[in-house]
Amino acid sequence: MDTKTKPVAIDQLRIDGPRLWDSLMELAQIGATPKGGVCRLTLTDLDRQGRDLVTRWAREAGLMVTIDRIGNGFMRRPGRNNSLPPVVAGSHIDTQPTGGKFDGNYGVLAGLEVVRTLNDHGIQTEAPIEVAFWTNEEGSRFVPVMMGSGVFAKAFTLEHAYAATDTEGKSVKDELERIGYVGPEEPGAHPIGTYFETHIEQGPVLEDNDKTIGVVTGVLGIRWYDCTVTGMEAHAGPTPMALRKDALQVATRLMQEVVACAHRHPPHGRGTVGMVQVHPNSRNVIPGRVKFSIDLRNASDAICAAMDADIRAVAARIAAETGLAIAIEQVSEYPAQPFHADCIAAVQRAADRLGYSNMPAVSGAGHDAVYMARLAPAGMIFIPCKDGISHNEIEDAKPEHITAGCNVLLQAMLERAGVA
Ligand SMILES: [Zn+2]
Repeated sequence: MDTKTKPVAIDQLRIDGPRLWDSLMELAQIGATPKGGVCRLTLTDLDRQGRDLVTRWAREAGLMVTIDRIGNGFMRRPGRNNSLPPVVAGSHIDTQPTGGKFDGNYGVLAGLEVVRTLNDHGIQTEAPIEVAFWTNEEGSRFVPVMMGSGVFAKAFTLEHAYAATDTEGKSVKDELERIGYVGPEEPGAHPIGTYFETHIEQGPVLEDNDKTIGVVTGVLGIRWYDCTVTGMEAHAGPTPMALRKDALQVATRLMQEVVACAHRHPPHGRGTVGMVQVHPNSRNVIPGRVKFSIDLRNASDAICAAMDADIRAVAARIAAETGLAIAIEQVSEYPAQPFHADCIAAVQRAADRLGYSNMPAVSGAGHDAVYMARLAPAGMIFIPCKDGISHNEIEDAKPEHITAGCNVLLQAMLERAGVA
Protein backbone atom coordinates (compact mmCIF):
# COMPACT_ATOMS: atom_id res chain seq x y z
CA MET A 1 0.00 0.00 0.00
CA ASP A 2 1.20 3.49 -0.90
CA THR A 3 2.30 5.49 2.15
CA LYS A 4 3.66 8.62 0.55
CA THR A 5 2.34 10.99 3.22
CA LYS A 6 2.78 10.94 6.97
CA PRO A 7 0.03 9.39 9.11
CA VAL A 8 -3.02 11.58 9.68
CA ALA A 9 -5.68 11.34 12.37
CA ILE A 10 -8.82 9.82 10.88
CA ASP A 11 -11.04 12.79 11.74
CA GLN A 12 -8.51 15.08 10.04
CA LEU A 13 -8.63 13.04 6.86
CA ARG A 14 -9.94 14.92 3.79
CA ILE A 15 -10.51 13.88 0.19
CA ASP A 16 -8.75 15.61 -2.73
CA GLY A 17 -11.49 17.89 -4.11
CA PRO A 18 -9.71 18.99 -7.30
CA ARG A 19 -8.85 15.35 -8.16
CA LEU A 20 -12.50 14.33 -7.78
CA TRP A 21 -13.64 17.33 -9.84
CA ASP A 22 -11.12 16.53 -12.59
CA SER A 23 -12.33 12.92 -12.75
CA LEU A 24 -15.95 14.09 -13.01
CA MET A 25 -15.03 16.44 -15.86
CA GLU A 26 -13.02 13.74 -17.65
CA LEU A 27 -15.84 11.18 -17.44
CA ALA A 28 -18.25 13.90 -18.67
CA GLN A 29 -16.22 14.14 -21.90
CA ILE A 30 -17.61 10.75 -22.91
CA GLY A 31 -20.93 11.64 -24.51
CA ALA A 32 -20.45 15.37 -23.94
CA THR A 33 -23.19 17.52 -25.53
CA PRO A 34 -22.71 20.98 -27.08
CA LYS A 35 -24.75 22.58 -24.27
CA GLY A 36 -22.37 21.25 -21.59
CA GLY A 37 -24.33 18.17 -20.59
CA VAL A 38 -23.85 14.45 -21.16
CA CYS A 39 -25.73 11.92 -23.31
CA ARG A 40 -24.46 8.48 -22.30
CA LEU A 41 -27.43 6.16 -22.58
CA THR A 42 -27.15 2.78 -20.93
CA LEU A 43 -25.52 -0.09 -22.89
CA THR A 44 -24.39 2.11 -25.80
CA ASP A 45 -20.81 2.34 -27.06
CA LEU A 46 -20.46 5.51 -24.99
CA ASP A 47 -21.63 3.63 -21.87
CA ARG A 48 -18.94 1.03 -22.60
CA GLN A 49 -16.32 3.79 -22.84
CA GLY A 50 -17.53 5.26 -19.53
CA ARG A 51 -17.41 1.83 -17.86
CA ASP A 52 -13.95 1.16 -19.32
CA LEU A 53 -12.62 4.45 -17.96
CA VAL A 54 -14.07 3.97 -14.46
CA THR A 55 -12.84 0.37 -14.19
CA ARG A 56 -9.38 1.43 -15.48
CA TRP A 57 -9.21 4.09 -12.75
CA ALA A 58 -10.32 1.44 -10.24
CA ARG A 59 -7.57 -0.97 -11.29
CA GLU A 60 -5.01 1.85 -11.15
CA ALA A 61 -6.16 2.45 -7.55
CA GLY A 62 -5.50 -1.24 -6.83
CA LEU A 63 -9.11 -2.36 -6.78
CA MET A 64 -10.35 -5.76 -7.90
CA VAL A 65 -13.19 -5.42 -10.43
CA THR A 66 -16.10 -7.88 -10.58
CA ILE A 67 -18.98 -7.64 -13.07
CA ASP A 68 -22.25 -9.53 -12.61
CA ARG A 69 -24.63 -10.92 -15.25
CA ILE A 70 -26.68 -7.70 -15.48
CA GLY A 71 -23.49 -5.67 -15.87
CA ASN A 72 -23.33 -4.19 -12.37
CA GLY A 73 -19.72 -3.43 -11.40
CA PHE A 74 -18.10 -3.92 -7.98
CA MET A 75 -14.63 -2.51 -7.32
CA ARG A 76 -13.13 -3.89 -4.15
CA ARG A 77 -10.48 -2.67 -1.73
CA PRO A 78 -9.75 -5.44 0.77
CA GLY A 79 -9.98 -4.78 4.50
CA ARG A 80 -8.09 -6.39 7.37
CA ASN A 81 -10.97 -8.81 7.96
CA ASN A 82 -12.26 -9.93 4.58
CA SER A 83 -14.88 -12.22 6.05
CA LEU A 84 -16.83 -9.05 6.88
CA PRO A 85 -19.33 -7.80 4.25
CA PRO A 86 -18.06 -4.68 2.48
CA VAL A 87 -19.09 -1.10 3.07
CA VAL A 88 -20.24 -0.03 -0.39
CA ALA A 89 -20.49 3.38 -2.06
CA GLY A 90 -22.39 3.32 -5.33
CA SER A 91 -24.60 4.95 -7.93
CA HIS A 92 -24.83 4.89 -11.75
CA ILE A 93 -22.90 6.24 -14.74
CA ASP A 94 -25.64 6.09 -17.38
CA THR A 95 -27.38 9.39 -18.11
CA GLN A 96 -30.59 10.78 -19.60
CA PRO A 97 -30.49 11.78 -23.32
CA THR A 98 -30.13 15.40 -22.21
CA GLY A 99 -28.44 14.61 -18.91
CA GLY A 100 -25.84 16.38 -16.80
CA LYS A 101 -22.34 15.66 -15.53
CA PHE A 102 -23.27 14.90 -11.92
CA ASP A 103 -26.42 12.78 -11.64
CA GLY A 104 -25.13 9.31 -10.73
CA ASN A 105 -21.56 9.88 -11.86
CA TYR A 106 -20.87 11.83 -8.67
CA GLY A 107 -21.87 8.92 -6.43
CA VAL A 108 -19.56 6.49 -8.23
CA LEU A 109 -16.55 8.80 -8.50
CA ALA A 110 -16.99 9.99 -4.89
CA GLY A 111 -16.57 6.34 -3.88
CA LEU A 112 -13.45 6.09 -6.03
CA GLU A 113 -12.09 9.28 -4.45
CA VAL A 114 -12.61 7.78 -0.97
CA VAL A 115 -10.46 4.82 -2.06
CA ARG A 116 -7.77 7.07 -3.56
CA THR A 117 -7.67 9.06 -0.31
CA LEU A 118 -7.29 5.92 1.81
CA ASN A 119 -4.49 4.80 -0.53
CA ASP A 120 -2.72 8.16 -0.23
CA HIS A 121 -2.61 7.84 3.53
CA GLY A 122 -2.00 4.10 3.72
CA ILE A 123 -5.14 3.53 5.76
CA GLN A 124 -6.43 0.01 6.11
CA THR A 125 -10.07 -0.52 7.01
CA GLU A 126 -11.38 -3.37 9.10
CA ALA A 127 -14.15 -4.33 6.63
CA PRO A 128 -13.52 -4.19 2.88
CA ILE A 129 -14.57 -1.08 0.94
CA GLU A 130 -16.31 -1.37 -2.42
CA VAL A 131 -17.43 1.05 -5.11
CA ALA A 132 -20.40 -0.05 -7.22
CA PHE A 133 -22.01 1.14 -10.44
CA TRP A 134 -25.49 -0.14 -11.28
CA THR A 135 -26.70 -0.80 -14.83
CA ASN A 136 -29.50 1.34 -16.33
CA GLU A 137 -30.58 3.45 -13.38
CA GLU A 138 -32.14 6.09 -15.62
CA GLY A 139 -34.58 3.89 -17.52
CA SER A 140 -34.70 6.21 -20.52
CA ARG A 141 -33.60 3.55 -23.02
CA PHE A 142 -34.90 0.41 -21.29
CA VAL A 143 -37.70 -0.02 -18.74
CA PRO A 144 -37.75 -0.66 -15.78
CA VAL A 145 -35.64 2.07 -14.20
CA MET A 146 -33.07 1.13 -11.55
CA MET A 147 -32.68 -2.11 -13.48
CA GLY A 148 -29.30 -3.36 -12.24
CA SER A 149 -29.98 -2.69 -8.57
CA GLY A 150 -33.53 -4.05 -8.98
CA VAL A 151 -32.26 -7.38 -10.35
CA PHE A 152 -29.61 -7.45 -7.62
CA ALA A 153 -32.30 -6.96 -4.93
CA LYS A 154 -34.62 -9.50 -6.65
CA ALA A 155 -37.35 -6.90 -7.20
CA PHE A 156 -37.68 -8.54 -10.64
CA THR A 157 -35.83 -11.33 -12.45
CA LEU A 158 -32.71 -11.24 -14.61
CA GLU A 159 -34.78 -12.75 -17.46
CA HIS A 160 -37.31 -9.92 -17.20
CA ALA A 161 -34.51 -7.34 -17.42
CA TYR A 162 -32.73 -9.17 -20.28
CA ALA A 163 -35.95 -9.21 -22.34
CA ALA A 164 -36.52 -5.43 -22.19
CA THR A 165 -36.11 -3.76 -25.58
CA ASP A 166 -35.43 -0.21 -26.74
CA THR A 167 -37.39 1.65 -29.43
CA GLU A 168 -35.29 -0.07 -32.11
CA GLY A 169 -36.11 -3.51 -30.74
CA LYS A 170 -32.61 -4.15 -29.33
CA SER A 171 -32.66 -6.14 -26.09
CA VAL A 172 -30.77 -5.55 -22.85
CA LYS A 173 -29.16 -9.00 -23.15
CA ASP A 174 -27.87 -8.41 -26.68
CA GLU A 175 -26.63 -4.92 -25.91
CA LEU A 176 -24.90 -6.02 -22.69
CA GLU A 177 -23.13 -8.79 -24.64
CA ARG A 178 -22.25 -6.42 -27.47
CA ILE A 179 -20.47 -3.97 -25.12
CA GLY A 180 -18.79 -6.85 -23.25
CA TYR A 181 -20.34 -6.31 -19.86
CA VAL A 182 -22.02 -9.63 -19.07
CA GLY A 183 -19.95 -10.77 -16.09
CA PRO A 184 -19.83 -14.20 -14.47
CA GLU A 185 -21.28 -13.29 -11.08
CA GLU A 186 -24.91 -14.06 -10.22
CA PRO A 187 -26.71 -10.76 -9.40
CA GLY A 188 -27.33 -10.56 -5.66
CA ALA A 189 -24.68 -13.16 -4.86
CA HIS A 190 -22.54 -10.32 -3.59
CA PRO A 191 -22.74 -9.46 0.12
CA ILE A 192 -23.34 -5.84 1.15
CA GLY A 193 -22.64 -4.74 4.73
CA THR A 194 -23.66 -1.10 4.42
CA TYR A 195 -24.57 1.02 1.38
CA PHE A 196 -24.10 4.77 0.91
CA GLU A 197 -25.06 6.80 -2.16
CA THR A 198 -23.90 10.37 -2.63
CA HIS A 199 -26.05 12.35 -5.07
CA ILE A 200 -27.05 15.83 -6.15
CA GLU A 201 -30.38 16.66 -4.55
CA GLN A 202 -32.26 17.12 -7.89
CA GLY A 203 -34.56 19.54 -6.06
CA PRO A 204 -34.35 23.10 -4.70
CA VAL A 205 -34.62 22.56 -0.92
CA LEU A 206 -30.94 22.61 0.11
CA GLU A 207 -30.20 25.64 -2.02
CA ASP A 208 -33.32 27.41 -0.73
CA ASN A 209 -32.18 26.75 2.87
CA ASP A 210 -28.54 27.57 2.12
CA LYS A 211 -27.33 24.18 3.41
CA THR A 212 -24.36 22.17 2.16
CA ILE A 213 -25.43 18.64 3.11
CA GLY A 214 -28.80 16.91 3.04
CA VAL A 215 -28.96 14.04 5.54
CA VAL A 216 -31.39 11.85 3.63
CA THR A 217 -33.90 10.07 5.85
CA GLY A 218 -35.71 8.20 3.10
CA VAL A 219 -37.39 8.13 -0.28
CA LEU A 220 -41.03 9.18 -0.65
CA GLY A 221 -43.74 6.63 -1.37
CA ILE A 222 -45.83 7.28 -4.49
CA ARG A 223 -49.45 6.53 -5.38
CA TRP A 224 -50.86 7.15 -8.85
CA TYR A 225 -54.57 7.39 -9.64
CA ASP A 226 -56.86 7.95 -12.62
CA CYS A 227 -59.88 10.03 -11.68
CA THR A 228 -63.06 10.34 -13.78
CA VAL A 229 -65.88 12.80 -13.16
CA THR A 230 -69.05 12.09 -15.14
CA GLY A 231 -71.71 14.76 -15.81
CA MET A 232 -73.84 15.50 -18.86
CA GLU A 233 -72.98 17.31 -22.07
CA ALA A 234 -75.41 20.08 -22.95
CA HIS A 235 -75.54 23.29 -24.94
CA ALA A 236 -73.71 26.18 -23.21
CA GLY A 237 -76.47 28.65 -24.05
CA PRO A 238 -79.92 27.18 -23.37
CA THR A 239 -78.94 25.30 -20.15
CA PRO A 240 -79.36 27.50 -17.02
CA MET A 241 -76.63 27.27 -14.38
CA ALA A 242 -78.79 25.50 -11.79
CA LEU A 243 -79.73 22.71 -14.18
CA ARG A 244 -76.26 21.72 -15.37
CA LYS A 245 -74.10 18.68 -14.70
CA ASP A 246 -70.76 20.31 -15.48
CA ALA A 247 -68.02 17.68 -15.02
CA LEU A 248 -65.17 20.18 -15.35
CA GLN A 249 -66.44 22.47 -12.60
CA VAL A 250 -66.67 19.49 -10.25
CA ALA A 251 -63.29 18.13 -11.39
CA THR A 252 -61.54 21.44 -10.66
CA ARG A 253 -62.93 21.41 -7.12
CA LEU A 254 -61.35 18.00 -6.60
CA MET A 255 -58.09 19.11 -8.27
CA GLN A 256 -57.82 21.93 -5.71
CA GLU A 257 -58.33 19.31 -3.01
CA VAL A 258 -55.40 17.24 -4.32
CA VAL A 259 -53.11 20.15 -3.50
CA ALA A 260 -54.94 20.86 -0.22
CA CYS A 261 -54.54 17.19 0.75
CA ALA A 262 -50.75 17.48 0.32
CA HIS A 263 -50.79 20.58 2.55
CA ARG A 264 -52.83 18.69 5.16
CA HIS A 265 -50.01 16.10 5.43
CA PRO A 266 -46.84 18.14 6.00
CA PRO A 267 -43.92 18.43 5.76
CA HIS A 268 -43.39 15.93 2.93
CA GLY A 269 -46.86 15.74 1.34
CA ARG A 270 -46.91 16.20 -2.44
CA GLY A 271 -50.04 16.40 -4.58
CA THR A 272 -50.00 16.89 -8.34
CA VAL A 273 -52.54 16.87 -11.16
CA GLY A 274 -50.42 16.70 -14.30
CA MET A 275 -52.74 15.37 -16.95
CA VAL A 276 -56.32 16.44 -17.82
CA GLN A 277 -58.69 15.28 -20.56
CA VAL A 278 -61.94 17.16 -21.07
CA HIS A 279 -64.77 15.62 -23.08
CA PRO A 280 -65.90 16.73 -25.61
CA ASN A 281 -63.47 19.68 -25.27
CA SER A 282 -65.68 22.09 -27.18
CA ARG A 283 -66.09 25.81 -26.50
CA ASN A 284 -69.88 25.86 -26.38
CA VAL A 285 -70.57 22.47 -24.79
CA ILE A 286 -70.83 21.91 -21.03
CA PRO A 287 -68.18 19.24 -20.34
CA GLY A 288 -69.77 15.85 -19.80
CA ARG A 289 -66.72 13.91 -18.68
CA VAL A 290 -63.29 14.82 -17.27
CA LYS A 291 -60.45 12.41 -16.70
CA PHE A 292 -57.34 13.49 -14.78
CA SER A 293 -54.31 12.03 -13.05
CA ILE A 294 -53.48 12.31 -9.36
CA ASP A 295 -49.94 11.83 -8.01
CA LEU A 296 -49.71 11.67 -4.19
CA ARG A 297 -46.43 11.26 -2.30
CA ASN A 298 -45.27 11.19 1.29
CA ALA A 299 -42.55 9.89 3.56
CA SER A 300 -44.24 6.77 4.95
CA ASP A 301 -46.72 4.20 3.70
CA ALA A 302 -48.99 5.03 6.65
CA ILE A 303 -49.18 8.71 5.68
CA CYS A 304 -49.64 7.77 2.01
CA ALA A 305 -52.58 5.61 3.12
CA ALA A 306 -53.97 8.54 5.13
CA MET A 307 -53.72 10.78 2.05
CA ASP A 308 -55.51 8.09 0.03
CA ALA A 309 -58.37 7.99 2.56
CA ASP A 310 -58.43 11.80 2.71
CA ILE A 311 -58.80 12.34 -1.04
CA ARG A 312 -61.40 9.57 -1.37
CA ALA A 313 -63.49 11.08 1.47
CA VAL A 314 -63.32 14.53 -0.12
CA ALA A 315 -64.32 13.07 -3.50
CA ALA A 316 -67.30 11.29 -1.90
CA ARG A 317 -68.41 14.56 -0.26
CA ILE A 318 -68.12 16.52 -3.54
CA ALA A 319 -70.00 13.77 -5.38
CA ALA A 320 -72.81 13.89 -2.78
CA GLU A 321 -73.01 17.69 -2.92
CA THR A 322 -73.07 17.91 -6.71
CA GLY A 323 -74.83 14.70 -7.69
CA LEU A 324 -72.09 13.86 -10.20
CA ALA A 325 -70.30 10.51 -10.19
CA ILE A 326 -66.59 10.58 -9.25
CA ALA A 327 -64.49 7.44 -9.74
CA ILE A 328 -60.95 7.20 -8.35
CA GLU A 329 -58.89 4.23 -9.52
CA GLN A 330 -55.39 3.58 -8.17
CA VAL A 331 -53.10 2.59 -11.07
CA SER A 332 -49.77 2.11 -9.28
CA GLU A 333 -48.03 2.28 -5.94
CA TYR A 334 -44.39 2.51 -4.92
CA PRO A 335 -43.78 2.04 -1.20
CA ALA A 336 -41.85 4.62 0.80
CA GLN A 337 -38.32 3.54 1.70
CA PRO A 338 -36.95 4.90 4.94
CA PHE A 339 -33.18 4.65 5.34
CA HIS A 340 -31.44 2.90 8.25
CA ALA A 341 -31.19 4.89 11.49
CA ASP A 342 -27.50 3.98 11.89
CA CYS A 343 -26.66 5.22 8.37
CA ILE A 344 -28.66 8.43 8.81
CA ALA A 345 -26.82 9.02 12.11
CA ALA A 346 -23.41 8.28 10.53
CA VAL A 347 -24.06 10.87 7.80
CA GLN A 348 -25.34 13.39 10.36
CA ARG A 349 -22.32 12.89 12.64
CA ALA A 350 -19.88 13.20 9.75
CA ALA A 351 -21.49 16.43 8.48
CA ASP A 352 -21.50 17.93 11.99
CA ARG A 353 -17.91 16.90 12.71
CA LEU A 354 -16.74 18.36 9.40
CA GLY A 355 -18.55 21.62 10.18
CA TYR A 356 -20.85 21.53 7.14
CA SER A 357 -24.29 23.14 7.44
CA ASN A 358 -26.86 20.39 7.06
CA MET A 359 -30.52 19.49 7.34
CA PRO A 360 -32.68 16.38 7.11
CA ALA A 361 -33.84 15.72 3.56
CA VAL A 362 -36.13 13.33 1.73
CA SER A 363 -35.75 12.13 -1.83
CA GLY A 364 -38.74 12.64 -4.08
CA ALA A 365 -36.96 10.72 -6.86
CA GLY A 366 -36.00 7.05 -7.00
CA HIS A 367 -32.38 5.90 -6.55
CA ASP A 368 -30.46 2.61 -6.52
CA ALA A 369 -30.25 3.11 -2.74
CA VAL A 370 -33.99 2.28 -2.55
CA TYR A 371 -33.29 -1.32 -3.59
CA MET A 372 -30.09 -1.56 -1.53
CA ALA A 373 -32.08 -0.52 1.56
CA ARG A 374 -34.04 -3.79 1.21
CA LEU A 375 -30.79 -5.76 1.57
CA ALA A 376 -28.61 -3.87 4.02
CA PRO A 377 -28.43 -0.72 6.16
CA ALA A 378 -28.40 2.10 3.60
CA GLY A 379 -28.25 5.88 3.55
CA MET A 380 -27.81 8.79 1.17
CA ILE A 381 -25.93 12.08 1.18
CA PHE A 382 -27.35 15.00 -0.82
CA ILE A 383 -25.56 18.12 -1.98
CA PRO A 384 -27.24 21.14 -3.61
CA CYS A 385 -27.50 21.47 -7.38
CA LYS A 386 -27.98 24.80 -9.11
CA ASP A 387 -31.65 25.91 -9.08
CA GLY A 388 -32.57 22.32 -8.16
CA ILE A 389 -32.30 21.36 -11.84
CA SER A 390 -31.28 17.87 -13.05
CA HIS A 391 -32.07 15.58 -15.98
CA ASN A 392 -30.99 18.62 -17.98
CA GLU A 393 -27.77 19.60 -19.73
CA ILE A 394 -27.53 22.74 -17.58
CA GLU A 395 -27.39 20.61 -14.39
CA ASP A 396 -24.63 22.10 -12.24
CA ALA A 397 -23.04 21.75 -8.79
CA LYS A 398 -20.38 23.74 -6.96
CA PRO A 399 -16.90 22.24 -6.50
CA GLU A 400 -17.00 23.00 -2.75
CA HIS A 401 -20.27 21.06 -2.41
CA ILE A 402 -18.88 18.16 -4.45
CA THR A 403 -15.91 18.08 -2.06
CA ALA A 404 -18.08 18.38 1.06
CA GLY A 405 -20.38 15.50 0.10
CA CYS A 406 -17.38 13.25 -0.58
CA ASN A 407 -15.78 14.14 2.77
CA VAL A 408 -19.03 13.16 4.49
CA LEU A 409 -19.03 9.90 2.51
CA LEU A 410 -15.41 9.20 3.57
CA GLN A 411 -16.12 9.73 7.27
CA ALA A 412 -19.41 7.81 7.20
CA MET A 413 -17.79 4.86 5.39
CA LEU A 414 -14.86 4.79 7.82
CA GLU A 415 -17.27 4.82 10.77
CA ARG A 416 -19.12 1.83 9.33
CA ALA A 417 -16.04 -0.08 8.10
CA GLY A 418 -13.78 0.63 11.09
CA VAL A 419 -10.09 1.46 10.79
CA ALA A 420 -7.67 -1.41 11.33
ZN1 LIG B 1 -29.15 9.47 -10.37
